[in-house]
Amino acid sequence: MRSIRLKSPAKINLYLKVLRKRKDGYHQIKTVFERIDLFDELLLKTRKDQRIKIYCRHPAVPTDNSNLVYKATQLLRQDFLNKSTGLDIRITKRIPVAAGLGGGSSNAASVLMGLNKLWNLGVNKEELRHYADKIGSDVPFFISESSFAVGTGRGEKIKNLPKPRVLWHILVVPHNKLSTKEIYSSLNLRLTKKEENVNMLVRALKSFDLSRLKNYITNDLEKVASRKLPKLFSIKKKLKKLGVGVFCLSGSGPAVFGILKSRKEAEQKARKLKSRNLQVFVVRTY
Ligand code: ATP
Repeated sequence: MRSIRLKSPAKINLYLKVLRKRKDGYHQIKTVFERIDLFDELLLKTRKDQRIKIYCRHPAVPTDNSNLVYKATQLLRQDFLNKSTGLDIRITKRIPVAAGLGGGSSNAASVLMGLNKLWNLGVNKEELRHYADKIGSDVPFFISESSFAVGTGRGEKIKNLPKPRVLWHILVVPHNKLSTKEIYSSLNLRLTKKEENVNMLVRALKSFDLSRLKNYITNDLEKVASRKLPKLFSIKKKLKKLGVGVFCLSGSGPAVFGILKSRKEAEQKARKLKSRNLQVFVVRTY
């Protein structure tokens, strides 16, 4: 096999609690991830020379060694192939960049799993998880290939959850980027509530009880993100006006998701939200 095509999905966070700042500078968090059916496409092709080349038309995606897919390739290559094999990586970006949807992390996870097949490396899931951990906090979730999972530590310790039926969402993404680092560093931990309702959320998810689920959906970064980007207030106001009962920021934003009862309802409401300065998607659990 000389090439492989991969679909690289996005995530949202149904729950994100920041517990404390750690000595290593990261924050200890508790989160619930949901994988959604919004995909980047990747094409990996073995090269005759030893270079790793990244092609991507999106202006905000680096094509040098700072791209997370470069790191993923290098890690596997140095341990298994003695740097002898080169790779072309073509990225078609559909997941909005720096939006709290985990696009870069997902791309890296897809490359780790894809190269394992393309280069016949025989690396098991646990080892892949170990490489994922070295790349970034959200990468292990995508390696788990689960639809729902609880993440602890920096978000990298993953406990898979059973998949209930699928949830339908409206995803609203303003064109502004928010830096995860900046959002976390502006967070005042004394102002976040300490109570943890993650178990209640997991129970509501299991029983697919949307009216209970909405009580436990939360994100500690939402206030800081809205202060930095007041447009988020107006997005939430619009969602409320449309009768979307449950909505929340994903990750460090600026993507905001709403939960709807059906695809039909999501599509109807999404049509009313469309405007020039917003990207609006209808997505579901993947
Ligand atoms: P994070 O929470 O890790 O900051 P995010 O989900 O909000 O991530 P990403 O789309 O992963 O956002 O992009 C964050 C930054 O990572 C981008 O600004 C970009 O410079 C860099 N980056 C590196 N590799 C990639 C990639 N493959 N796709 C997108 N961005 C990438």
